[in-house]
Amino acid sequence: MNKAKKSPKASEWQGIWVVLEHAKGKVSSVSWEILGKARELGDKYDTKVSAILLGVNLDDMAREAIHRGADDVYVVEHEALMHYSWEAYTKVVTDLVEKHRPNILLLAATHNGRDLAGRLAIRLNTGLTADVVELDIEPERALLVGSVPGFGGSILAVIKCEHSRPQMATVRPGVLIAKEPDPSRTGKIHKIAPDIPPDLITTQVLQEIPVETVDISKAKRIVAAGRGIGTNLELVEELAELLDASIGVTRPLADIGLKSRDHQIGSTGVTVRPKLAIIIGVSGAAHFVSGIQDAETIISINIDEEALIFDHSDYCVVADLNEVVPELIEALKARLYSTAK
Ligand SMILES: Cc1cc2nc3c(=O)[nH]c(=O)nc-3n(C[C@H](O)[C@H](O)[C@H](O)COP(=O)(O)OP(=O)(O)OC[C@H]3O[C@@H](n4cnc5c(N)ncnc54)[C@H](O)[C@@H]3O)c2cc1C
Repeated sequence: MNKAKKSPKASEWQGIWVVLEHAKGKVSSVSWEILGKARELGDKYDTKVSAILLGVNLDDMAREAIHRGADDVYVVEHEALMHYSWEAYTKVVTDLVEKHRPNILLLAATHNGRDLAGRLAIRLNTGLTADVVELDIEPERALLVGSVPGFGGSILAVIKCEHSRPQMATVRPGVLIAKEPDPSRTGKIHKIAPDIPPDLITTQVLQEIPVETVDISKAKRIVAAGRGIGTNLELVEELAELLDASIGVTRPLADIGLKSRDHQIGSTGVTVRPKLAIIIGVSGAAHFVSGIQDAETIISINIDEEALIFDHSDYCVVADLNEVVPELIEALKARLYSTAK
């Protein structure tokens, strides 16, 4: 039986650390969102905020991390870190954490972030709160308080890891607000030479095949469609085009491939917070609602006046979408046409 490693005292673990993800020379928006929140908590509770960047050619991103709230940036450059590799990333971040002992370690709830976080938690013998949508600190014991939607978003479970360190969490994209860069901020960049044995990495990237992805998390307007539309997206596409809106779908529509998974809104999809959401033929299951409930104005169209989506809507249209959506399209066209004249 493995004997658990004895952790140093909790008070020896200090600060909030964020692992920044990046691609093509740019840090991902979710990482800036997490860093923004870390800065807010750091200011509130007088705690240092640090960022970790792994890869190659990281100088510009390291500077931007300071402008966006980091006090210290640990930059680890190595060819083996150019692409995400669980072997090298887990080793490098574990080494850094064991040396510097951050109290809190935050990662993005992305494919790579989730993969890395789980592996780190095992190596570091600590707990991990996955898919957090709200973060705070309980100041008396410097405990991270992570809120995670449960039962399809109908409850928010508050999770604390009281005994092990670091306190780890992955944070869902689109739920926090990134801080605007402030070029007058100063901080320290630490260049770290990693210890990556040549035989550590057992997989190799042979070719990068670009995949077209869509990010609807930042859309200002969204037309979201559910199973009520059947398998024909034409009306929804026309309405979205007229409104200059992005298209979102419920999971059943993503499951049948009517739209790619990037368009799926909800607890296992994307969280969106548009100014306007028009929701068509969606019942309003908690799994869907949890991804769109922060929209500023929600207009829902459903034939069933008892549909749950109406409990979350500012305007409820009880009607057959096949009648009301074409009318809406015509009205919009008439308005656009009259203003264009
Ligand atoms: C672990 C788990 C995770 C999940 N994650 C997600 C997720 O991330 N996102 C997600 O969306 N779902 C998710 N789901 C599925 C979710 O629980 C619901 O099943 C799903 O959201 C329902 O999709 P829907 O509203 O399109 O379909 P339905 O529930 O079938 O609703 C269709 C609606 O269309 C209306 N309608 C039908 N005809 C018309 C018409 N002519 N005019 C107007 N209205 C009409 C009906 O009245 C009905 O309300 C998840 C489920 C599980 C178990």
